[in-house]
Amino acid sequence: MITRMSELFVRTLREDPADAEVPSHRWLVRAGYIRRAAPGIYSWLPLGYKVLRNVERIVREEMDAIGAQEVHLPALLPKEPYEASGRWAEYGANVFRLKDRKDGDYLLGPTHEEMFTLLVKDLYSSYKDLPLSLYQIQTKYRDEARPRAGLLRGREFVMKDSYSFDVDDTGLQKSYDRHRDAYIRIFNRLGFEYVIVHATSGAMGGSASEEFLAVADNGEDTFVASPGGYAANVEAVHVIAPQPLPYDHAPAAHVHDTPDTPTIATLVDHANAQLPRADRPWTAADTLKNVLVMVRQLDGTREPLAIGLPGDREVDLRRLAAQLAPAEAEVFTEDDFVDHPSLAKGYIGPSALGRENSSGIRFLVDPRVVTGTRWVTGADRAGQHVFDLVCGRDFIADGVIDVAEIKEGDPAPDGSGPLRLARGIEMGHIFQLGRKYAEALGLKVLDSRGKLVTVTMGSYGVGVSRAVAAVAEGACDDKGLCWPREIAPYDVQILATGKGDAVLNAATDLARELDAAGVAVLLDDRKASPGVKFADVEIMGMPTSVVVGRGLAEGMVELRDRRSGGSENIPLAEAVARIVAVVHGRPAID
Ligand code: ATP
Ligand code: MG
Repeated sequence: MITRMSELFVRTLREDPADAEVPSHRWLVRAGYIRRAAPGIYSWLPLGYKVLRNVERIVREEMDAIGAQEVHLPALLPKEPYEASGRWAEYGANVFRLKDRKDGDYLLGPTHEEMFTLLVKDLYSSYKDLPLSLYQIQTKYRDEARPRAGLLRGREFVMKDSYSFDVDDTGLQKSYDRHRDAYIRIFNRLGFEYVIVHATSGAMGGSASEEFLAVADNGEDTFVASPGGYAANVEAVHVIAPQPLPYDHAPAAHVHDTPDTPTIATLVDHANAQLPRADRPWTAADTLKNVLVMVRQLDGTREPLAIGLPGDREVDLRRLAAQLAPAEAEVFTEDDFVDHPSLAKGYIGPSALGRENSSGIRFLVDPRVVTGTRWVTGADRAGQHVFDLVCGRDFIADGVIDVAEIKEGDPAPDGSGPLRLARGIEMGHIFQLGRKYAEALGLKVLDSRGKLVTVTMGSYGVGVSRAVAAVAEGACDDKGLCWPREIAPYDVQILATGKGDAVLNAATDLARELDAAGVAVLLDDRKASPGVKFADVEIMGMPTSVVVGRGLAEGMVELRDRRSGGSENIPLAEAVARIVAVVHGRPAID
């Protein structure tokens, strides 16, 4: 069936939506694909819904191809399984919670590990039933703190989530590898540039985990890549600790007056002016900066934490959040300083935190702060710093915390050279969950020797609605969208431009013939000016368009390629054959 623009439920917009931060959001709204219903919540219009279903089709085909079976669980879920796993509390404000008429607690599913674990427990009891992979394509709900960028971070969104069940670790590794291969095929077909990076597992628990990131300058994730092929989300980068240094010949620590030096920059300037080194100037990397945060646990208790790190680096808040999860870091306020009088703000040092630890505050240091390293740091009195303070001799930390920012050019953990930093959008995430959920919910099977063993699980997600935006992000220009053919709503848009029945009849006949040949056609049959139709075809982004208009008198139509911008006049009589060839992947028009 051909779709006529005169009947299609669509309105293209000439103006950008006020809240559009990124191109995909702007164009999906302007081209009439989606409409905002509430912050982070969108309605799918006919064109957008076709794209969404095309993405779903690709995901479904690849999941089916690895033998995963499609199911569909409810989105409205009881509290108890999530209480058993601990996530009812862990999810905090991120989950939508609601009550039924009997005052029972429910939630709108943010992800479904618990429900799948229970479903398998319900029906399976033997190792012979495994391995098993189940998946669903379903609407998920998360009350994100900052919904943004249209479909990229929604509060209601579509996810493909799958779960694997195996009796042992070897089986889990196989299931994981199969999913990884399927994801590679999915993202190759979706056609955007992506990287596979090591990841942290966050609120999921579990161990091995990788993310598929679409490479995009406006992505929210930062990843690193090394010349040797190591790639990781910055949250998951582990800094390699240097070897301890000998300090037998290090001078004793000495305190100096350093008035008005509450910042690293002022301290370094002062040291270079008043206490110059013989070998080289002081730099921020010689200083030890002690940063205080408040850690709020799930039960609401707050506890201060001091983080000691080289003064040329900031604490990376995302790395900190990943390390502390499910606890959260909060700002250490002026009131908190009042409550801890041994902390001299701007001059916090070893006697408040290190060996004597007069403050009683937990003190964790960056992995670079190893025994024998010498530091300039606060002397616990305003206007004073201590020099040649030796780690392991003059102060001892309570442990290590790897939360300093990663910088472009830092040595790669694989030793292959400097790290490069780039940004991306998380499109997929694969985890080896292990036995966390199976243990919490009692999913056990009899193994081959008749012994009860806990099942080991994997969990695998693809952001299906996010993929619509991510593809659009890489497939648009200053005029609008330009879809890759596999997910475009239609293959061909036919524009009838010009007055009179002849043009419209020829365009309609062409549309019918293409439709009969299996080509998905959108016919712009509106009584609108050619200018309006030309603008809309660019905004809406079908890969191929045909202009039936001025050339018709000579039996010619114009064939256009949205991506290359190329066009060619071809005889109407040959149009069907040419277009069918183009649609089926024969050379595009240049
Ligand atoms: P993020 O770090 O972006 O918040 P996440 O790690 O919380 O994502 P997962 O729980 O791993 O997400 O979910 C699997 C996939 O679902 C993600 O890789 C992403 O593609 C998609 N996704 C997650 N949150 C959202 C959201 N708010 N809107 C759209 N898609 C999302
Ligand atoms: Mg994730």
